[in-house]
Amino acid sequence: MTTTAVTHIASLVTNDPSLGNGTPLGLIQDAAVVIDGDRIVWTGESSKAPATDNVLDAAGRAMIPGFVDSHSHLVFAGDRTQEFNARMSGQPYTAGGIRTTVAATREASDEQLSANVAHYLAEALRQGTTTLETKSGYGLTVEDEARALRIASRHTDEVTYLGAHVVSPDYADDPAGYVDLVTGPMLDACAPHARWIDVFCERGAFDGDQARAILTAGRAKGLHPRIHANQLTYGPGVQLAVELDAASADHCTHLTDADVDALGQGDTVATLLPGAEFSTRATWPDARRLLDAGATVALSTDCNPGSSFTSSMPFCIALAVRDMGMTPDEALWSATAGGAAALRRTDIGRITPGARADLVLLDAPSHVHLAYRPGVPLVSAVWRGGQRVE
Ligand SMILES: [Zn+2]
Repeated sequence: MTTTAVTHIASLVTNDPSLGNGTPLGLIQDAAVVIDGDRIVWTGESSKAPATDNVLDAAGRAMIPGFVDSHSHLVFAGDRTQEFNARMSGQPYTAGGIRTTVAATREASDEQLSANVAHYLAEALRQGTTTLETKSGYGLTVEDEARALRIASRHTDEVTYLGAHVVSPDYADDPAGYVDLVTGPMLDACAPHARWIDVFCERGAFDGDQARAILTAGRAKGLHPRIHANQLTYGPGVQLAVELDAASADHCTHLTDADVDALGQGDTVATLLPGAEFSTRATWPDARRLLDAGATVALSTDCNPGSSFTSSMPFCIALAVRDMGMTPDEALWSATAGGAAALRRTDIGRITPGARADLVLLDAPSHVHLAYRPGVPLVSAVWRGGQRVE
């Protein structure tokens, strides 16, 4: 194997509190990282780095773990520019929202859908995202949901079955029948292609009892639960997530004190998706309240064509710092280690020996610049699994 050292890193985020300055970020100044194959084998002060086959001088730039984006909806076709334009122009918009995407996705070929996933994955990678979860949810038939997951699994290991995104228009008069489909034949067809099961628990989508039935059925087929919870209104989603040991409750915008307490005490990560609030001009989730209660918080893009069409984790970090009460350090942790926790992964989201060599070099002396210089493309190099990819 060839070893490579990246030296003279002005500020290295390891996410190991036993290293460096002792904060959760485990910051090391004037640091080096050594890669062997697809793994990190050494992390420490640059002056103490072992001899390696290759050396790359970071010349005073900062390095962070690759971003872990634990929530996206990339298997889609079609365009919803008009909907966004109307929303941002204060005009009423009466077209079908999510149904527009369902219709376009059903009509698209496998090749079109796969090319679309590849396109947005590459876009995310250029912005430093080295792990990305994605979901089905725009097919809503047995065949279309299974197809979406088959396509997604060609591009990422983190694949989520979201047949319960909304009740299919085909079952508008029979939501119970749709839940039977989602927990029966559709689950059977989808489970082999997915790791996770998700449900949109919200007024107008699926209520608490339906969500429980869906997640429980998925768990019986070997899928682990995660949940879209408390995005638009207060509801049972967050507490159901904690009760079922879901890896993550995503959105968490409208929370009661009991919801916050449950997240503070349980193992379920609270994943906040500020791109959605930004793109719908909605109320921000209160990250400070969750952090102060002891909850583990992740940040993610929710990249989807309707409510959050961004693949940029740096943008989400900037929003979280500016509008959600997070410090720059907390936001960086949540976009890396937090995302890993939301996917129950320990091999990513940190720069320590044994972790996968997913590294991002910033064209800046510190990770704080991700919030300090919003909208500026600061990612200057990306490694995934030890391979330089950008
Ligand atoms: Zn979502």
